[in-house]
Parts: sequence; C-alpha cells; structure tokens
Amino acid sequence: MTNIEHNKRNQINNIVSVVKLSSLLFSGICIFKRFFNNGDKVVDNMFGMYMISIAILTLSLIYGLWAFSTTRKFNSKHMKLIQLIENFIFISIFFGVILISGAHASEYKFLFLFIIITATIQSGMKQGMIVATISSAIILAMDILCAPKTPINQYFENDLILAGIFFLTAWPLGFYVRIESNHIKKLENLVNEDGLTCVYNHRFFHEALSEKIRSCEEEKSPVSMIFIDIDYFKYYNDLYGHQKGDDVLRTIGCMLKSNVGKEDIVARYGGEEFAVILPNTSEKDAVKIAENIRSKVESTYFEGEENQPNGKLTVSIGISVYPDKAKNDVELIKSADDALYRAKFFNKNRVEIYSSILDDLKNDIDEKHIDLVTSIKTLISVINAKDRYTYGHIERVVAYSRLLADKLQISEEEKKDLIYGAYIHDIGKINISREILNKRMPLTDEEWEILKGHPLNGVEIIKPVKSLEKISDLILHHHERYDGKGYPDNLKGEDIPFLARVLTVVDSFDAMTSNRPYNRRKSYDEAIEELRRCSGTQFDPDIVELFIEVIMENKRGILSV
Ligand code: GH3
Ligand code: MG
Ligand code: MG
Repeated sequence: MTNIEHNKRNQINNIVSVVKLSSLLFSGICIFKRFFNNGDKVVDNMFGMYMISIAILTLSLIYGLWAFSTTRKFNSKHMKLIQLIENFIFISIFFGVILISGAHASEYKFLFLFIIITATIQSGMKQGMIVATISSAIILAMDILCAPKTPINQYFENDLILAGIFFLTAWPLGFYVRIESNHIKKLENLVNEDGLTCVYNHRFFHEALSEKIRSCEEEKSPVSMIFIDIDYFKYYNDLYGHQKGDDVLRTIGCMLKSNVGKEDIVARYGGEEFAVILPNTSEKDAVKIAENIRSKVESTYFEGEENQPNGKLTVSIGISVYPDKAKNDVELIKSADDALYRAKFFNKNRVEIYSSILDDLKNDIDEKHIDLVTSIKTLISVINAKDRYTYGHIERVVAYSRLLADKLQISEEEKKDLIYGAYIHDIGKINISREILNKRMPLTDEEWEILKGHPLNGVEIIKPVKSLEKISDLILHHHERYDGKGYPDNLKGEDIPFLARVLTVVDSFDAMTSNRPYNRRKSYDEAIEELRRCSGTQFDPDIVELFIEVIMENKRGILSV
C-alpha cells in the first residue's frame, strides 16, 4: 500500500470510527427514550435501566479506545477481517435496540443506515450492498414474524420503502467511493510513472524498494536487484538525435516490463539506466532473468544499431541480492551498481553478479581477525575520500588483476593473493596528508620521502594478521623497479616477488590512464607505448607483453569506462 493510500485509509477509519461511536451512544439514547416513554416502567425497571446505560457507555468506551488506538497497526488483510467483524457486531447491536424498542413497531430501524454508510465508505459498494441486504432482511423478517396477522401488513409495506432507502444509500455512495479510488489510482500512476518510458520513476523506485525489503524480511526471502545500462548510448544519441534515443528507451522499458513478473518493479533509475526490483527472487533466478533480458535486447533490431561501436545496441547488467550481498536498500543499490560497473569494464553486453573482495577476504581470514577486515574497508574509504585519484583506482586495479591472473595461468591461490594485494596495496597512504596526495606541483624531497613510506606503512597495518602475511610482500614491493631503481629495497629483476612485479604493471597502467594531480591522463595507446618503453627497466618485460594482450582483448570495454 502506498503512503497516500495508507494516509487516506487512516483518515477514513478515524471518521468512520467517530460515526460508529456516535451511533452507539445514539442507540443508548434510543433505549432510554423507550423506557422514559413507558411511564411506570421507569420505576419498575430502574435496575435494568442502569444496567443498560452502563452497558452502552462501557461498550462505547471500549469501542472508542479500540478504534483509535489500533487502526493504524494492522495491515490491509487483517483490517478487512476486523471491519467484517465490526459490521457484524454493530448489526447485532442495532438489531437488539430495535427489538427492545418495539421490534416491527420500533421507530429506530433507521439505525441500520449508520452501518450501511460506514461499511460503504470503508469497504466499497459491494460491502455496502451486502450490509443493506442484511439490514433490509432483518426489518422485513421482523415485520413478518412479529406484526399482528392482518390481511394487509402495514409495517411490511412501510419497511419496503425503508429497505429501498437502504439500497439507494449504499449504491450511489459506493459508486462515488469507487470513482474516487479509481481517480486516486490514476493520479498515483501519474506521480509514480516515468513520463517517457511508462515504467516507474526514480522516486517510486526508492519507495517500493524499502517496502519490498521490509516485506521480504518478514517472509525471510531474498530481494534481487538488477541494474541495466545501455551501452554506448551517448554515441547513439549523437548519431541519430535524442528523439531516436528516446524511442530506444521506450522500447527497452517495454521489453523489461514484459520480461519480468507481475510483482517485480521496473523503474527508470536515471537517464539511460533502468533498475528492476525482484522480490522473492534468488540470485540464481535473477541471473536467468537478467541474461534473458540481455540476450533479447541484443537480438532485437534497433534502427541504425549497425553503426554502434559493437555493431548492435546492447545493455550491460549488474546484479546484487539482499540480504546475502547487501545489508540494506542503500547497499543493495550500491552493490548492483558496482556489478554494473564491472559488466561495463569487462567488454559490456554482459551480466555481472556483485562479489565483494572483503566478503571473500572474510572467508579466508582467521575468525579472530575479522574485525581487521572491517577496519581495512574503513581505511580504504578514508583513503578514497582523501585522494581524488584513488577513487575508482582500487576497483580498476582489482579488475585488471583478475584479467591478467587468468592470462598468466597462475594458481587459484596466487590469483587470490594478487586480488587481495591489489585491493589493499595503497592502504599505507592512510598516514599521508591530503595536501601531499593531491599536490599539483612536483613534490619536495621531504614530501617524496613521506610518499615513498606508504608500502612500509601498509605492511605495518596488516602485520597482526597472519593470513595476510603472503600479501605483505606484494604491498611492500609494488614500487620496486625491474632495473633495481625502485623503492623501498631497490630489489632487481627476479628478486622482486613475482606477484609484486605483476601488480606494478597493473598499478602503473591505471595511474597513466587516470587523471593524476601532477600528470595529464595518457590515452590508452600512449599508455601501452609507455609500458613498452619502460619494459625491462621499470617493468618485467614478460608481464608487460601479457598485460598488453589482456588490454587489447578487452579494449572496447576498458576504454569507455
Ligand atoms: P556506456 O556504454 O559506458 O554506458 O556509455 P554511454 O554512452 O551509454 O554512457 P554515458 O553515461 O556516458 O552516457 C549516457 C548518455 O545517455 C548521455 C545521454 O546522451 C543519454 N541520455 C540520458 N538520458 C537520456 C534521455 O532521456 N533521452 C535520451 N535520448 N538520451 C538520454
Ligand atoms: Mg550511464
Ligand atoms: Mg550507457
């Protein structure tokens, strides 16, 4: 239920409760009037009168307390049942009042109107008509059973008119309630839909995500999230104009909607990015859905797609899942977006599942050092905040390392070490000031010495963790040079640990192709040329050649990230 609907329900329940409460007190007055009008009976039934008034007052009090303290606490399914029970109780009370006050001859048969009106307002025309039918049946049955047997039953005839009034109250009122709720639904759709693509908009996406996470948490089931971004869309827009681009967005929006379930929420997250919330969906099923979407977009013909850099219009998709990969909605979005970034990085037109290096690290590390993993994460985010260049650098170095590890055909164990090393390699920068890290002018000798201290600082930080021992060599020597002119130990050639030599190449390539405070970003071909120029002096020549192969193979993806 949306917020607007929820508020509306609460307000209606409040006003209806006031009406019901008044009708209870009104029933009390009816009973009193009946006793007072009966002269002597006032005296005879004094005790009964007190009992009835106490009963009515207590009933009203209980109802008042119950109605105003609990209405907001129930979900819509329970609320319906409660309203049904309430209607039944009120019909019984009014029936009792009418019976006491003269049955067929009672003047208070109109009391049923209260419950007909409130039931219609609360639950719509169907409920209103049911209550009107029951009320009419009661009064007409009383006329047949209790009225004196005469050839023409005057009471019955009069009450036929009253029954007509009951129905004529429920029917138009119910009709009005229906029109009004349809109207609200239409307005809600307008507020929640994205104007261009007819999927939900960004605002609704956030609202729905929190709601779906809450309900799946109760049911202990997962919520998957897929992030979809159109590849080279800027290129397409530049070539054919924004209107043709808009057509593509609309088509993809429709394709997404028709390829997910009824409960799933498709939204336009940003310009050309879509997000799908998949409640009660495991990661495995989410991958199937995402792969299906990816291949359908790939095989659909979009006008002019042959001129796209990869010859067709495609999408990249990132997946994450709550609660396995993310603890809350913010993390779920962030992790799905990270996975999307990786899908873009690895050549686009692909589906990537989020995987956290830290989670892997947690599995590989001694139980007693788990806290340190959390600290590492904090340290890395502090460094990211301090050093503008580091932002994204770590992720890229990790991604390159994964690719290069496969090319080098190293063991799984070594691959893990390389990835962990790539993740942690700059952790020693935590002690270095923001001014030095972001300085545009060349560093002074003193500043240079401070910067050169970061590999050793990094080793000191991870020293307490035995299981990271193997990685300390990687961290310590990732600035050594093949010709022995690096730091901190001036190691030369094969004396430099193998994985440290690998990391040096990857780290330097990313440094060359990123915006550094002190250097212009190199083009991609320039960076390859630079790697070759420094091969054998700064870098291990074998590793350089293999890394260049990796870059060429993944050129399209890496280039445009
Ligand atoms: P990548 O493959 O890495 O995703 O590259 P890209 O060009 O798709 O991504 P980038 O984020 O650089 O550009 C997004 C482009 O999406 C920019 C803009 O031309 C286009 N775009 C964003 N919103 C709209 C929109 O509402 N209509 C149209 N037609 N284009 C849009
Ligand atoms: Mg984009
Ligand atoms: Mg894009």
